[in-house]
Amino acid sequence: MKRAVLLAHPSGHSLSPFMHDAAFRALGIDARYEAWDVPPDGLADAVQRLRSEDLLGANVTVPHKLTVMEHLDDVDDEARAIQAVNVVRREGRRLIGGNSDAAGLMRSLHEEGWSADGRTVGIVGAGGAARAAAFGVLAHGARSVVIVNRTAATRDALVANLAGRFGTDRVRACDDPARAVVDAWIQATSVGMERSGIDPDESPLPATVFDVAGDRARSGGARVAIDLVYRPAVPRFLRDARDAGWTSIGGLGMLIHQGAIAFEAWTGQRAPVDVMRLAATTALAGRSS
Ligand code: NAP
Repeated sequence: MKRAVLLAHPSGHSLSPFMHDAAFRALGIDARYEAWDVPPDGLADAVQRLRSEDLLGANVTVPHKLTVMEHLDDVDDEARAIQAVNVVRREGRRLIGGNSDAAGLMRSLHEEGWSADGRTVGIVGAGGAARAAAFGVLAHGARSVVIVNRTAATRDALVANLAGRFGTDRVRACDDPARAVVDAWIQATSVGMERSGIDPDESPLPATVFDVAGDRARSGGARVAIDLVYRPAVPRFLRDARDAGWTSIGGLGMLIHQGAIAFEAWTGQRAPVDVMRLAATTALAGRSS
């Protein structure tokens, strides 16, 4: 039996085993998905184990997305630009790092009927998810991005990185989100994520960012709030946006599509996205009941 694994610390809350095991079963692939709890000082050994013949590949998540790069044989351009690896595929004994978060997000937004093309997008956060989101929307034609983050130094490093790749006129840092004029906000911090079954009911932005005056409403009024958090399904950030009349999109679609892209990288087969979606929603419902 083949295996795909998750390298995480802690690893207990992941929905990936449910999605991937369901996909393996649906396609009749003799494989299973294992979540490995790998503390930072165990990462080198864990990566070494991925070279084994029975390993299809791996997902990588907090806290290893950046540090795993030094243990791999190669990292593709997109993951290098985003400075985060969340998928490892094996070519013989060689391990190649990639990133499916940006493409997963963009596929999920496309599925929801939203295009970044020509939009000004506010991004909240400067961690791995925010870097992937910013890269994704800029690569898909966003006019510009505005970055907000609690820690100015990491925000400024992200702005400099994006400006180097996409041009200084398309990226800027923002200290006062209430004054930012954007077509969409993407919430890419960990604020609002349920922990131990408790909804923290917090947002990293004040609800006033959604009080957009009529003359600010661009793009035909299609203002969209996107939250990468998927547990709870409607975090405080999205509730505030909905209350102000914005369209809201949650993070579950991104989770499913980043998983589908990883599955395709490991198996060479088209992922059964609907099967993965059902497995993820069933697992989520089971956990919250
Ligand atoms: P990360 O690299 O650890 O970054 C965390 C970000 O959250 C940083 O910008 C951090 O700001 C900010 N932050 C943390 N606590 C904060 C607080 N109390 N107030 C304000 N900002 C705070 O994590 P990540 O990998 O980017 O993940 C971020 C979130 O995205 C997580 O909830 C994760 O589950 C979610 N995510 C979802 C998907 C999906 O498929 N839907 C994929 C990836 C990630 P500082 O720089 O100031 O520390």
